Amino acid sequence: MTGGIEIHHLCKAYAGAPAVDGVSLQIAPQELFVIVGESGCGKSTLLRLIAGLEVPDRGTIRLHGEMVAGDGVMVSPEGRGTGFVFQSYALWPHMSVRDNVAFPLEATGMPRRAAAAAAEPHLDTVSLRHLAERKPDALSGGQRQRVALARCLAGGAGTILMDEPLANLDPHLRATMERELLAFHRSSGATTIYITHDQREAMALADRMAVMRNGSFLQVGTPQEVYDRPQSREVAEFIGQGTVVPVQYADHTAQLDGVSFPVEAMAGQAPGAAMAILRPEAIEILAEGDTKGLAGTVRETFYRGGGWERSSSLRADQS
Ligand code: ADP
Ligand code: MG
Repeated sequence: MTGGIEIHHLCKAYAGAPAVDGVSLQIAPQELFVIVGESGCGKSTLLRLIAGLEVPDRGTIRLHGEMVAGDGVMVSPEGRGTGFVFQSYALWPHMSVRDNVAFPLEATGMPRRAAAAAAEPHLDTVSLRHLAERKPDALSGGQRQRVALARCLAGGAGTILMDEPLANLDPHLRATMERELLAFHRSSGATTIYITHDQREAMALADRMAVMRNGSFLQVGTPQEVYDRPQSREVAEFIGQGTVVPVQYADHTAQLDGVSFPVEAMAGQAPGAAMAILRPEAIEILAEGDTKGLAGTVRETFYRGGGWERSSSLRADQS
């Protein structure tokens, strides 16, 4: 593979404690790849290694076919053609929106007026042309993040790394920004790695995603593969909502508390004791005394707007 991002057995420890612990990964050119995991699992360290802000202990990184770290090579951050978008906006406070976006062009030696003119289409992409004269402190959080995105576009980065860029925004704005990020990704043509601790955001944005824990990947796949076919209990419990229950499995049927259910099994699942994930959308509540289903108790309900969330227990749990 010549394009995209190729990572081979990457390791980085701090004072002997592994932060990134044997990550291997291939990302196709122009793919939007999302890494999701709890705080402290090593996501930012992995991005900083790719950006060239950290030196790996072991392993290699290739960006668009070029070895940038490992095997005795360490290309500087400026030499990697990567754009970085952080959770904090990292804009120049004394510069207008336009000048912030033009900055990467000026930094390459383009004259000021030409850089300002070249910034215009990128301001259009993020719908900020009408605010081009403003300073960052006169913008909302979402607008500031859009300036950071436009600046990334202006820099012409072939690789864009985003570290929880929406984490500081309120929920309503986040949904809008998710759509803008997808549009941004498509117009940039860049290979993008996007990091988040929010699995809902990960599934909404990703072409493919990785679930990260303790410095390594538990599973890599499309959002649907990861949701529908979690390869481990950890992934099943982290992605989406649901309950993992012990069942007896045979021939596409699971026995739970004496009741048989048709299930989608993992390829090669052997008959016998197994784990199944119950997803809330797959559960239907029957009338009391109906013997087709499992007996259970609804303990609490939460109104979530448009639907109720139930906290329940199966009878079998209580015996
Ligand atoms: P995440 O972004 O997933 O929250 P990080 O990559 O920031 O996780 O951190 C992974 C682990 O490495 C954490 O235990 C963190 O404390 C540690 N770590 C990160 N950066 C440093 C550093 N510069 N020095 C020492 N420890 C660090
Ligand atoms: Mg982080």
